Amino acid sequence: MTAIARGLFVVRRQAHELGGVLLAAAFASMISMGWFSAHSVGRGSVVVLSALAVFGVVLGRALWREFAHPASPAAASTQELREFELGTLLIVGSYLLLALTGGARSFLYPLAYALVSFLAIVHRRRWIGAAWIGVTMVMELALARASGPGVGALVALHLTWLGFFAAGNSLVLSSVTRRLRGAHRRAMREELARVRQEARDFRLIASQLPLASRAERSREEEELRMAHGAVHAVHEQLYFTIDLLCSSLDLHTCALLWARGEGQGPRATPQLVIKEMATASEFIANAPELESAGMLAGSLRDPKPMRLKSLGGRRVPPYYDGPERVTDLCVVPLKEGAVVRGLLCADRKNDRPFEDAELAVLEKAADQILRIIEQERSFAAVEREKYEQEQFYAASELLNQALTVEDVHAKTFAAVARIAPYDLAVVTSYDAHAKSHEVIAVSLAADAAEDRRWGRLPAQLTDLVFADGSGLVSMAVKNRHYMPANGEAPDSEVLVFDQNSAIEGARSLLVLPLVRGDQVLGTLTLACRRARAYPAPTREMLRVIGHQVGVSLQNARMYQSMEERATTDGLTGLTNHRCFQERLEHLHALAERTGQKYSLILTDVDHFKGVNDTYGHPAGDAVLRRVAALFTGRARKVDIVARYGGEEFVIVLPDTDGEGAALFANRLREEIGEQVMNSEHGNFSVTISMGIAEFPHDGASRADLVDRADKALYWSKEHGRNRVTRYAEMP
Ligand code: GH3
Ligand code: MG
Ligand code: MG
Repeated sequence: MTAIARGLFVVRRQAHELGGVLLAAAFASMISMGWFSAHSVGRGSVVVLSALAVFGVVLGRALWREFAHPASPAAASTQELREFELGTLLIVGSYLLLALTGGARSFLYPLAYALVSFLAIVHRRRWIGAAWIGVTMVMELALARASGPGVGALVALHLTWLGFFAAGNSLVLSSVTRRLRGAHRRAMREELARVRQEARDFRLIASQLPLASRAERSREEEELRMAHGAVHAVHEQLYFTIDLLCSSLDLHTCALLWARGEGQGPRATPQLVIKEMATASEFIANAPELESAGMLAGSLRDPKPMRLKSLGGRRVPPYYDGPERVTDLCVVPLKEGAVVRGLLCADRKNDRPFEDAELAVLEKAADQILRIIEQERSFAAVEREKYEQEQFYAASELLNQALTVEDVHAKTFAAVARIAPYDLAVVTSYDAHAKSHEVIAVSLAADAAEDRRWGRLPAQLTDLVFADGSGLVSMAVKNRHYMPANGEAPDSEVLVFDQNSAIEGARSLLVLPLVRGDQVLGTLTLACRRARAYPAPTREMLRVIGHQVGVSLQNARMYQSMEERATTDGLTGLTNHRCFQERLEHLHALAERTGQKYSLILTDVDHFKGVNDTYGHPAGDAVLRRVAALFTGRARKVDIVARYGGEEFVIVLPDTDGEGAALFANRLREEIGEQVMNSEHGNFSVTISMGIAEFPHDGASRADLVDRADKALYWSKEHGRNRVTRYAEMP
């Protein structure tokens, strides 16, 4: 019923959205029947004129919806339908015009070509574009039919042109979009590379950031974002310092040159890069990377302040690439320890040699520049640390939320991803008694899955069980410390799990023990295809995460066993009374909603007090276990079998009427009667009595049903025991 109603609703809504399309279809057939010739309109036919008016209104409504409320909230599919509708109406409209102005021979044909070209470009989805082409073809044929015989060649020509325009335009469009996207991506990459290089020059980011995998890209972006801010701050302060020098010392140019790389060969000098500059010159080198150190090479080799005078334009510092006639030059090296980071250069044009006091100012400025960078470096380090700590806390929090064991695994992978990159992560559990390990969860990064060797690892590793041995997993459990100590794969042949499952091509590797108190519950293995993915600080954080996973894992296991204890009966392993009531409530609500029937069977062991008295309480317990096992063995998966109390059991059979339940109950009753029980006081057997009530026939509420089943059970007891009674059949 509900399915039909839903279907109708969907059809109605789509029809509402597609009203224009239906109208367009109607107009297509009217055009093909020749309704809209100039002749019929000229005659002033009322039907034709009102049809045109209706069309105008619908087209107006579609246009209004598209342009007056372009951002009105609607599902994406609805938006697409509306767009399709509008385009279709426009096409039909243009064919109406063609029909009115001479049919296939209309002078307005270029209008149709223009419209199709336009539509071929603007569609949001390919299917819409294709559908419009289809609509155009249909309209063309409709018009051809109305235009009478003899227009075959003309129509073929029209169709060819239409196809040509549509294909041409969409080709042009796709190539333009591709080019624009490519250019945008390139520009982004270049900007990132530039910031990265600058941050590296100032040593604002600790390590080289290698090409990142998809999983770690967000981490890298975060780091770049921080570096971006730092680079900007450094430049601002450097420029301020240099500009101040320029005006106070009356300089022509003041340049801060940075030394990049060490160069090659024994006498090689590093490359000089213009970092910051204040100048009045027009002959500054085009690229910041200088081709040679020129007259500054000496200052790089022997980092002492240098003053040159009377240059007379014959020798020019390398940051000029034209005939700049500077006369005096002063160069102060920027030294961090023994390393020359760069040169601060100042020059003048008016034959005024640099005095001692001026050199002292420049030397102080050089110190200041180094301090600026140092300061920004510590800011960046603090920011980075803060970021890492945030990630760490977020990771811990994730783990604290995990309640089930499966949840712990999932959260472990998510938590680790916040701290370190990995291509493969594997959780194993360790059984200390059996001295064996079992792989219980595997996570493979999306782009590692494309790697032929890595792609099959999950299938290979899942559920792998292996004995304690010499692999890294075993070592990590034994030493209660991560392995290998440096986080790098010693060689590709290193044993991680067992002989048959190597991780080929892992250049970084870390196996962390999952520790809880003095127990090791298992391990977490991380492998990455790139080198140095797990440096010392990361390893330290992961070590702590390993402890946290241990705690979460034990909590989850405890929680799980507590839950099991709360819902099952200790003696028989069946669902206990409380949990039974919950499950019945569920099933009853479902039955009420769907109108499905179900039956409830109450069972009581006959003369059970006697069994206890004659054969002892343990024998009585054994009887209860035997009955429970037999019931569960015979029941289907959907049935509920529960211990209702003492020696009473309850079975609920969904989708079963009283008759079916009675058949089932009698089979159980007979089987129980045939069982031989052993005890130290001799063998014996027991019988059971049962009562059945059926929903909704025997009662509408749960309580009623239980009560009716109980009455039926009582009737069985009253009438000789070892029998099954249906409430419905009670006299
Ligand atoms: P009836 O045929 O009328 O049911 O007679 P009955 O002796 O079975 O009577 P009743 O159902 O009242 O007896 C319940 C007995 O079941 C009382 C109690 O000692 C015993 N019993 C309840 N729970 C357990 C249990 O967990 N283990 C054992 N061994 N006996 C139990
Ligand atoms: Mg009883
Ligand atoms: Mg009994």
